[in-house]
Amino acid sequence: MTHCDPDWLDEGLVHLWRPYTQMKTAPRPLPTRATRGSRIVLADGRELVDGIASWWTAVHGYNHPALLDAAARQLSQMPHVMLGGLVHEQACRLAARLAAIAPGDLDYVFFSESGSVAVEVAMKMAVQYWRNLTGETRARFACFRGGYHGDTFATMSVCDPEEGMHALFADALPVQHVADLPTDEAAAARLETLLAAHDDIAAVIVEPLVQGAGGMRMHDAATLRRLRALCDAAGVLLIFDEIFTGFGRTGAMFAAEKAGVAPDVMTLGKALTGGVAPLAATVASRRVFEAFYDDDPGKALMHGPTYTGHALGCAVANASLDLFEREPRLAQVEALEKALRAALGPLAASPAVADVRVLGAVGAVETARPFDVEALRAWFIERGVFIRPLGQAIYLAPAYTIGAEDLAALARAVADAVERLEAAA
Ligand SMILES: *Cc1c(COP(=O)(O)O)cnc(C)c1O
Repeated sequence: MTHCDPDWLDEGLVHLWRPYTQMKTAPRPLPTRATRGSRIVLADGRELVDGIASWWTAVHGYNHPALLDAAARQLSQMPHVMLGGLVHEQACRLAARLAAIAPGDLDYVFFSESGSVAVEVAMKMAVQYWRNLTGETRARFACFRGGYHGDTFATMSVCDPEEGMHALFADALPVQHVADLPTDEAAAARLETLLAAHDDIAAVIVEPLVQGAGGMRMHDAATLRRLRALCDAAGVLLIFDEIFTGFGRTGAMFAAEKAGVAPDVMTLGKALTGGVAPLAATVASRRVFEAFYDDDPGKALMHGPTYTGHALGCAVANASLDLFEREPRLAQVEALEKALRAALGPLAASPAVADVRVLGAVGAVETARPFDVEALRAWFIERGVFIRPLGQAIYLAPAYTIGAEDLAALARAVADAVERLEAAA
């Protein structure tokens, strides 16, 4: 304990079971005091430039006054009322706005509080779609190596099967059909064969353009067009999990737009509220919705989280959409893409680097060899930046509003890290 530690830290930390953390050996988390813009202020007064916007959520930067005002207004009027038998302005407005901006005829919005639950709902929709429409039991999914869709049981089952969490729970998980992304004709042919060989598949689920948590792995728009065509030919639903890619991260409001295709169901989360409140959504197409729209109450979608359509969350999400309309967010992402290419591109020449990938407001440097992730994280903090490598990917996914100086500090830190890895090799 240093003299700067706040009094709540030691008292509480032993009781706080932290995410993805070996509580015995993990380094102490940094106590924070405040956030602003692209900066995190630590309890001891130090400031870190944030390279990952709190798990990719705070796309307008922290503490944007428009979001804080919307939250304050909603809190004083009505923090929340349940959507069982009641409804409120913010959920209605947000549903209509998401329907208006979502690709294709994705017009029907179901709200939840976390991305994992939004994916759970999408999976339930897909299974019940077939049950309602044809009476068929189609209870399995096709999913992709490198994918990540959440931490709950159903979502774990469609994550990359080699990934640690999946292996740990393998016995408890439904077995899904795992495939390679159809990035070329050969992989497309294999997926076509897989879809044709199994009549138990309800839907194919994919993170469009970027597999985020799996290490910022990117594929092209043609891959998504192939996927759409293969799903149509096989007659299965297609789910785009846009929890990471949605709201501008890849340069378009939704990654689906870049491919010019619409999925049957799309999941949203993370940046939906600009990082202010937990809220997620599952958006269904007319075709999916109509399979539930019936005189038979048994065909209703059987899901209803306590906080569905949380009024505070919806109010902030509406304010976030206002910002996308009022401020040049997508142009900022375009500029960020150029800056990331200029800064990270040259690192590809280093023998320590296997690959550099940039799309929209995501830049990733894949190292040639594994490295000590914890040591590098700590080294970044020493340098005044908050960057958390995923596996062998050192990546940046900052706020779209990050200033040139802060971005330069992040890029410099990544370049120095590469130099350090090179020297250690
Ligand atoms: C983060 C993420 C999820 C899970 O969202 P949570 O809010 O953490 O439950 C699901 N899918 C993708 C693509 C994600 O990036």
